[in-house]
Amino acid sequence: MQPTTLCNLNCRYCYLPDRGKRLVMPAAVNRAAAEAVARWRDSGHQVEVLWHAGEPLTVGVRTFEDLLADWPAGTLHHIQTNATLIDEAWCDLFHRHHVRVSASIDGPEHMNSGRVTRSGAPAWLRITAGITMLRRQGIPFDVLSVVQDPAPEVEARTRDPRTTRLGQSDGSRTPYGRPAEELMTDAHGGFHRR
Ligand code: SF4
Repeated sequence: MQPTTLCNLNCRYCYLPDRGKRLVMPAAVNRAAAEAVARWRDSGHQVEVLWHAGEPLTVGVRTFEDLLADWPAGTLHHIQTNATLIDEAWCDLFHRHHVRVSASIDGPEHMNSGRVTRSGAPAWLRITAGITMLRRQGIPFDVLSVVQDPAPEVEARTRDPRTTRLGQSDGSRTPYGRPAEELMTDAHGGFHRR
């Protein structure tokens, strides 16, 4: 689900044409989607919703909480965020609604050169401030990275002891020459075929 097309960043590699426009999903669309999947929930299926693209946090805590309220109890919500807007209020919402968070960060600072604000300034400090807030509030999170330069260093960086799972995709083949769907890592990062 895309609550808005707007993103507060302007990453150089971003493919979203409307990321500079605040086009907001009407509440009626959200309600219709929620009602449509309620049937699956009623037949015993787990319903999961991923909120993403542009930057979902730009709609604000109150609006986002209103969107969540339309979904059936037991729905598992995920959010993909650039992390720059995460503060205590957002962390409180994530806790209360058990939202699973994924933060977009491309590695250490020098690998985030493509992540910039609308004025072209580096977004690094704002991204890491949000991730620091997640850690301080005890919220576990996944990481989504765009790999601009698939150097061996990238694979080494995935061996962080806090990494419990890793998936990769470049659309068809990974930088390591294996089909993306075959690559996963087990705890602590060892690449292997599934
Ligand atoms: S944070 Fe994501 S949506 Fe926003 S400009 Fe960067 S790549 Fe695009």
